[in-house]
Amino acid sequence: MNKLILDGKAVAQEIKSNLKKRVESLTEKGIVPCLATILVGDNPSSETYVRMKGNACEKIGIKSIRIQLPKDIQTEELIDAIQELNNDDAVHGILLQHPVPSHIDERKAFEAINLKKDVDGVTSAGYGQTALGFGEYPSCTPAAILNILKYYQITIEGKQAVVVGRSPILGKPVSALLLNENATVTTCHSKTANLPDILKQADIVVAAIGKPKFIQGDWLKDGCIVLDAGYNKGNIGDVDYESCYNVASAITPVPGGVGPVTIATLLKHTVDSAEKTLT
Ligand code: NAP
Repeated sequence: MNKLILDGKAVAQEIKSNLKKRVESLTEKGIVPCLATILVGDNPSSETYVRMKGNACEKIGIKSIRIQLPKDIQTEELIDAIQELNNDDAVHGILLQHPVPSHIDERKAFEAINLKKDVDGVTSAGYGQTALGFGEYPSCTPAAILNILKYYQITIEGKQAVVVGRSPILGKPVSALLLNENATVTTCHSKTANLPDILKQADIVVAAIGKPKFIQGDWLKDGCIVLDAGYNKGNIGDVDYESCYNVASAITPVPGGVGPVTIATLLKHTVDSAEKTLT
């Protein structure tokens, strides 16, 4: 069987290919696309993500603002910081880095983001629109997974897709996006019984669990497509790459799979949002 390594860097490159030109054209008109990222506390992985996003922005001329807040901040103070960015016309996208410390009401904070600047689809309105099929900014990782499937012209319609994970920013929206593309979708979670039996039916598997090497090759159907959104300490995905590689017909590596496409999608959404201010 021919193996296909789904190269996220190539997909990201394609998404970014005309962004630089669009940014230049906006800048000539006096609009510098700007992404504001809020980081609460000092979680090292979150620090890394935020730094990577900031660097990616700067490479193509998007301004990136980083708001660093202390880990003992209260929900209302975080919401005040979000409101300030909502009211700042120079900011086109707002990203609250997940997770925030547990004493903060993350949902309440997400809801405070103005829908027009919700470039990571975290508000309930953004999620609802995505689920109904007309969302402008679906969550970036779910959108990235769809972008990878489309780039490689992998048929989604009619396929059995199994998503493992049901978080509001990943598992649920990617399930909705796959359903909108006419897959038959099963969404699994920590209370799912007989996960390996369900995965055995899957033509498309999305791993969004947050547990390193969780999905095993012998749980999968021969020739399935594996998209690993997991990103755990030590650059390890949520699937056991070696055993899954042997069974799958196509698989995303970690790193170099879903991650770079997520960042490219975030940049695109920020530029889309900046362009909307012209109309
Ligand atoms: P999360 O909020 O912790 O959600 C994890 C999900 O996995 C939950 O729905 C949970 O079920 C489910 N789960 C946990 N243990 C399970 C088990 N034993 N069997 C089946 N399901 C189980 O995590 P997340 O934010 O969605 O992130 C998931 C992964 O994606 C992480 O590795 C994260 O680092 C990665 N990620 C990557 C990117 C990227 O750009 N590549 C972006 C975001 C996240 P319950 O709902 O029942 O608790």
